[in-house]
Amino acid sequence: VKISKSYKLASRDFHPDNTVISVKGVQIGGGELVVMGGPCAVENAQQIDEIAGLVKAAGGQVLRGGAFKPRTGPYSFQGTGVEGLIMMAEAGHKHGLVTITEVMTPEYVDICAEYADILQVGTRNMQNFDLLRKLGETDKPVLLKRGFSATYDEFLNAAEYILAGGNPNVMLCERGIRTFESYTRNTLDLSAIPVLQNLSHLPVISDPSHGTGRRELVAPMTKASVAAGADGLIIEMHTDPDNSMTGDGVQSLFPDQFAELLQDLEKLAPLV
Ligand code: PEP
Ligand code: MN
Repeated sequence: VKISKSYKLASRDFHPDNTVISVKGVQIGGGELVVMGGPCAVENAQQIDEIAGLVKAAGGQVLRGGAFKPRTGPYSFQGTGVEGLIMMAEAGHKHGLVTITEVMTPEYVDICAEYADILQVGTRNMQNFDLLRKLGETDKPVLLKRGFSATYDEFLNAAEYILAGGNPNVMLCERGIRTFESYTRNTLDLSAIPVLQNLSHLPVISDPSHGTGRRELVAPMTKASVAAGADGLIIEMHTDPDNSMTGDGVQSLFPDQFAELLQDLEKLAPLV
């Protein structure tokens, strides 16, 4: 079936070879699996330092952690902000990890880019066009999450905004979509992985944590994502999930589960 496309730079027709994003020696989309791990939110310096050490020891290459948190309600913990960015940069530097953090508004792109190696656009901001345009003006790698109700066409058009602005370093992230099912937080759309790789040359990352919202489903859906051809994973891990400052403790792996999962992945695909 020929799908009519309104995006161009994101399309594989336009750019047949896979895009490989190189960040501090880590190649994303180059055929080796990249694992990004860490807490939902950067809570304090000790927490992010400890988790960074555990991500590194397990074989992960990228430290994740939100300093600016897009919370559904305004009274929930909103993140540690610029202080969190600094704590995370220090932990990444100390443990030799690339870092990724979410940026929510155009005004904060420069400061997030100063402290983090990869900028994440969250599901709720996939069509924040001012933010996408601003990210297009930088050359920072961007991990663009799929809007929880976005079609592939809308998702690739969102990526197109960043590419059209002049930034070629975009990766796509499937993080689950909203369906009628409420047992899981979202429905991780595994088909998105091969579909996006067929339609586009951009690396595809899977987020089984937000994609399921349930810790016990993270390992199987991680393995399924690898089997489906994902270029990388972004996985929440916390040393004390029951007391995490966001509600995402329920989907966060314990450190030993994270380490065991990465060992299992070594059997499926070599880590960078
Ligand atoms: C996150 O990765 O912490 C996050 C908020 O993800 P999403 O935008 O997919 O909900
Ligand atoms: Mn989270």
